[in-house]
Amino acid sequence: MSTRPIYLDNLATTRIDPRVLAEMLPWLDERYGNASSTTHPFGWEAANAVEAAREDVADLLGVDHSSDIFFTSGATESNNTILQGMAQEPGMARPHLVTTAIEHPSILAACGAWNGRGVDTTLVKPDREGIVAAESIARALRPATRLVSVMLANNEVGSIQPIEEILRITRAHGVPLHVDAAQGFGKTAPAVGALGVDFASVSSHKIYGPKGVGAFYVRRNPLRRKLTPLLHGGGQESGMRSGTLPVAQIVGFGAAARLAAAEWRADAEHAAALRSLLWRRLEEEIPEIHLNGSADRRLPGCLNFSVEGVLADAVISSTPELALSSGSACSSHHGGGSHVLRAMGLDPVRRQSALRIGIGRFNTRGEIERAGALLVAAIQRQRATLGRRPILATA
Ligand code: PMP
Repeated sequence: MSTRPIYLDNLATTRIDPRVLAEMLPWLDERYGNASSTTHPFGWEAANAVEAAREDVADLLGVDHSSDIFFTSGATESNNTILQGMAQEPGMARPHLVTTAIEHPSILAACGAWNGRGVDTTLVKPDREGIVAAESIARALRPATRLVSVMLANNEVGSIQPIEEILRITRAHGVPLHVDAAQGFGKTAPAVGALGVDFASVSSHKIYGPKGVGAFYVRRNPLRRKLTPLLHGGGQESGMRSGTLPVAQIVGFGAAARLAAAEWRADAEHAAALRSLLWRRLEEEIPEIHLNGSADRRLPGCLNFSVEGVLADAVISSTPELALSSGSACSSHHGGGSHVLRAMGLDPVRRQSALRIGIGRFNTRGEIERAGALLVAAIQRQRATLGRRPILATA
């Protein structure tokens, strides 16, 4: 059997922590009750487990009331729920949404869909390091603005957005702020819920929990009354998200959140140390290499860089021992290169040579040293083949 590549794509998803898996297993086996069954212990124990997980997610998000957390299938659904809820306000002639040009497709494509239904959207551009200035958000606001939506951290370059400053602006204008915290949740401080944002979206599989579960947070009324559910049905999650609760997934999410609350600083130090090790090696051995994104306002495990004269896809295909990417797993369905790097103003040559590495809890020093050696060799081979001529942009 061939050995598996070294996993360096922890921004796309993370491995389930074995401690999380151990907590989930009984709920995939003998504890199979429906959390909505109120007439027997199978249902009661499931409901209790769901509520305990809700507390753990609320704690990690820094919010006081776990009843303000609603479980979903992931951040994509959470983002769509918030946008749809705020875009359709009865009696509002032409609502307006403000978001940024570097959001995840679950925000950008949802805005695109709402544009076709009479909702205006303004996409605010970041600076060259992938940071969105609070003043740029202020300039985009209009009297008809119903919602501002800004991600906590970008999933390609890892840039961390100035949420506190943006919140000061949105509060001053009386406009609710939604934060897509799928990246950054459980990895940065302070927690966005503690800042007092109005809505937040989070996902389990970015913090060593299972895929297929996430949550959204809604600050207490009156905002909640404005939010219309995406799914109608049995009225689970206080009517905000119908559907039988996936208890094992939710228990796993709760366990992952609890572990992140206890270990995030250690995780961050570990990831940042390995990232520095790798970056030092690449910088030393490869001329004309450029960091994409901010050097200091960045997710600890994120390393996005471009190498002049080299195609990212060629480096990836010539290093099958490494699992890394040239952009986000989500953008790879869309083609046309990274919308994030484009919005940051990077030219096509730089975009085509961009590699994204996500270092996580389970990566070791040995893996990173091996990855450094393989990348240096692959890039040098590429350069020798191309004769250091600038590559031609095709898109
Ligand atoms: N927002 C961001 C910033 C993300 O990185 C992702 C996952 N790539 C999502 C939303 C979507 O999350 P999920 O996979 O849970 O639907």
